[in-house]
Amino acid sequence: MIQDIRPHQLKNEFIVNVKPDLEDFIIYIEDDKFLVGGKEGAMLFPRFKEFNDDFEHIIYLFSIEEQKFFLITDKINNTLVDYKFMSLKDIRSQMKAPLTMMFAAYTAWHLALWYRDNQFCGRCGNKTKHSETERAVICNSCGHIIYPKIMPAVIVGVTNGNQLLLTKYAHRNLPYYALIAGFVEIGETVEECVQREVMEEVGLKVKNIRYYKSQPWGVVQDLLMGFFCEVDGDTTIKLERNELKEAVWTAREDIIGQSDDWSLTHNMMMKFKEENNM
Ligand SMILES: [Zn+2]
Repeated sequence: MIQDIRPHQLKNEFIVNVKPDLEDFIIYIEDDKFLVGGKEGAMLFPRFKEFNDDFEHIIYLFSIEEQKFFLITDKINNTLVDYKFMSLKDIRSQMKAPLTMMFAAYTAWHLALWYRDNQFCGRCGNKTKHSETERAVICNSCGHIIYPKIMPAVIVGVTNGNQLLLTKYAHRNLPYYALIAGFVEIGETVEECVQREVMEEVGLKVKNIRYYKSQPWGVVQDLLMGFFCEVDGDTTIKLERNELKEAVWTAREDIIGQSDDWSLTHNMMMKFKEENNM
């Protein structure tokens, strides 16, 4: 999965007063697109040494080994010749590697959006400033402290003997199958969310809900939690057509994964396909 970058490691703890070195990476986003270089299989972010600018607004994000990543929120005018702007979706479909840079892009996206969306206090409307001691922004006026927001969501592998329930989203033109998924609502447990999402999307009851694995998925600022469960009783699918255009019971041997092995969804589909005792 995209976060499996061993032997490398993402160090996400907040560091006080850290300054960039010339070799450190710049995360710069304009119109929802990253400034990136390199080519397929060898994506790179620009480094400080490539710019002459004295940036005023520099935010430390995280490190991978000794390499630090900083978000620049100043407007960069002199973009570099070998770099271009790409959306996260295009980075995924066209760049593909190295995994450390891909995971950096997904994680930086989550953080960058959180900083962008919390420039003003939701309580009193005044400007916020960045905390110097922790990952937070603080309201200048009322003192309200805003911490990073991570949205919990579930991915559900519903099984029926030798079959797994595969789905296709209604409003996204994706060629490959996925699993039932959805965000946890306020006031419910993740297990209740599993039951509710399966009932809402395909009208099935489930039992024997087992936690599998989780995944930070910065694209939509969420933390995915994967569960397997078994259909309970009637196996007839009643499709919720606003959410899904297709849901099919698929035999283990007929399961085809996604185009890369980055997602928890793909990982769960392959886990079921390859392990006969599930
Ligand atoms: Zn305030």
